Amino acid sequence: MKIILASSNTHKLKEFKELLNEYEIIAFNEVMTPFGIEENGKSFKENANIKSKAVFEKLSIKEQERSIVLSDDSGICVEALNGAPGIYSARYSSEANDKSNRLKLTEELEKLKLKESLAHYVCALSLSSKFGTFSASAKMYGRVITEERGENGFGYDSLFIPLHYDKTLAQLSDMEKNAISHRFKALKLAKILLKTLKKAYQC
Ligand code: IMP
Repeated sequence: MKIILASSNTHKLKEFKELLNEYEIIAFNEVMTPFGIEENGKSFKENANIKSKAVFEKLSIKEQERSIVLSDDSGICVEALNGAPGIYSARYSSEANDKSNRLKLTEELEKLKLKESLAHYVCALSLSSKFGTFSASAKMYGRVITEERGENGFGYDSLFIPLHYDKTLAQLSDMEKNAISHRFKALKLAKILLKTLKKAYQC
């Protein structure tokens, strides 16, 4: 059974390859021409389901027989900002890139005269298969600060300090982040689904 990742985000692909090294995992743009998917769900879970279903439906019948599609919808929710940017994390600023999104987050906190706020990351995973669509999600708690620290990771990592840590995710190694991340925890649950699907695909 092959896993096709419904994302062309190279950071996510790298993390999934490290976390799911017992499976063959490829990005969807390796098996089809990339196409836009309208993420119009109201939650991380709804958006993850929209992405995995859209890519699974585009696979050939032959590919559907041997593959499952994995999607990830994730983001950061900041308490002082009433949960923003949440499901809009990737497109928080008008430029919609990591750097401008971080800048907008720090500006919004500074407008409230805050130097930090409680926050959490969410990761919703969705698996679309010939047996249906299944999902799992998890959170990582911590706080966001207004000064960037560290060079690793992506997105909001240089602003996020996990609970019980004094470094941002961008100051931790890939291995350290992967041991505590929202993505790792959601995958731990999704692996149970994957194991069941793998058996069903072999029958
Ligand atoms: P998605 O691709 O629509 O799920 O958008 C996810 C967005 O949330 C990314 O562009 C990042 O800004 C943010 N994000 C999700 N997971 C992480 C993470 O592990 N580290 C940093 N930022 C993340």
